[in-house]
Amino acid sequence: MENENLTKRGAGDKKETGKKSDTGQHAVFEGIRFQTPRGSWTIFPELCKGCGLCIEKCPTNVIGWSSELGAYGSNRVEVKADGCITCRICAWHCPDAAISVARQEKER
Ligand code: SF4
Ligand code: SF4
Repeated sequence: MENENLTKRGAGDKKETGKKSDTGQHAVFEGIRFQTPRGSWTIFPELCKGCGLCIEKCPTNVIGWSSELGAYGSNRVEVKADGCITCRICAWHCPDAAISVARQEKER
């Protein structure tokens, strides 16, 4: 099953490093970035505790459970990036800042 997970991650997803700190000290977490039609969606597995709130709040139902584990050994989430409208609702509701959504600015 491990090979299957690696293949899925390799299919167009990119790793991203993010710095997040809530204690004044910087910790570095590795994120997995998915390209969306309007930008990108990144999950930081070490921060995702698997509460499912983002799945509940996503208006297009494109967030689901991954077979990979996040914090505390619970399953983390992943996104079906093609259907993500980059609204950021998931990121706003995540209690652990485990999701980052970036909009691509239109060129003028
Ligand atoms: S709301 Fe945050 S912590 Fe909860 S499942 Fe979603 S990404 Fe993980
Ligand atoms: S940015 Fe919006 S559409 Fe995309 S996964 Fe989050 S809640 Fe769903």
